[in-house]
Amino acid sequence: MDSSAVRQAMVRKLAAQGLVHPAVQQAFATVERHRFVDSALVAQAYEDTSLPIGLGQTISKPSVVGRMLELLCEGRTPPLGRVLEIGTGCGYQAALLGQLCREVYSMERLRGLHERARENLRPMRLPNLHLILGDGMLGYPGGGPYAGIIAAAGGGALPQAWLDQLAVGGRLVAPAELVPGRQSLVVVDRTPQGYVRNVLEAVWFVPLKSGIA
Ligand code: SAH
Repeated sequence: MDSSAVRQAMVRKLAAQGLVHPAVQQAFATVERHRFVDSALVAQAYEDTSLPIGLGQTISKPSVVGRMLELLCEGRTPPLGRVLEIGTGCGYQAALLGQLCREVYSMERLRGLHERARENLRPMRLPNLHLILGDGMLGYPGGGPYAGIIAAAGGGALPQAWLDQLAVGGRLVAPAELVPGRQSLVVVDRTPQGYVRNVLEAVWFVPLKSGIA
């Protein structure tokens, strides 16, 4: 499959929807999304749609991933420093982060997906990408403090560990259920004066669960 033209077309569509950050566009043009989905779904890999990745989980649609990455990079010139991703899933967003950050620590609580992501990512040989099987609600202190934290699963309030592990000057982008039954995209900046939280649009991500399985 010569997918580079198809990817360029996807990037043009994302740009038309408002994704303007050049480094984020470049990451989308580079990473082969079709390598991260089931072979039966390859034909849909470059459509703006979420897709099942097994074990009841989904890969978010490119426009949502793009929105989150753009928020993460806003006002900063990649590469960012160390970044923590919660919810490796199939590894697609981790690969995009690998293009945008010096070091990526990506956590997944489901062993099956953690291993699948490892397989999916192996051919890309990204030495700056560290996959961790563990409960992302606890964060990963070993890699922090983080210039960025990005979560692909949303629960109630934001876990305290994420706020603690965010560097001063760093930014957290995550879905959170601040009102029961209503998930919103939340951005938290850690400034020298403290945490500044902004609640953005409604979103729908898979639930953030504790423990590993
Ligand atoms: N970024 C992923 C999206 C995966 S969906 C991709 O590109 O494919 C969200 C993932 O978060 C699921 O795989 C789910 O198992 C995982 N998840 C949910 N709660 C978690 C937790 N506490 N720690 C780590 N991963 C978690």
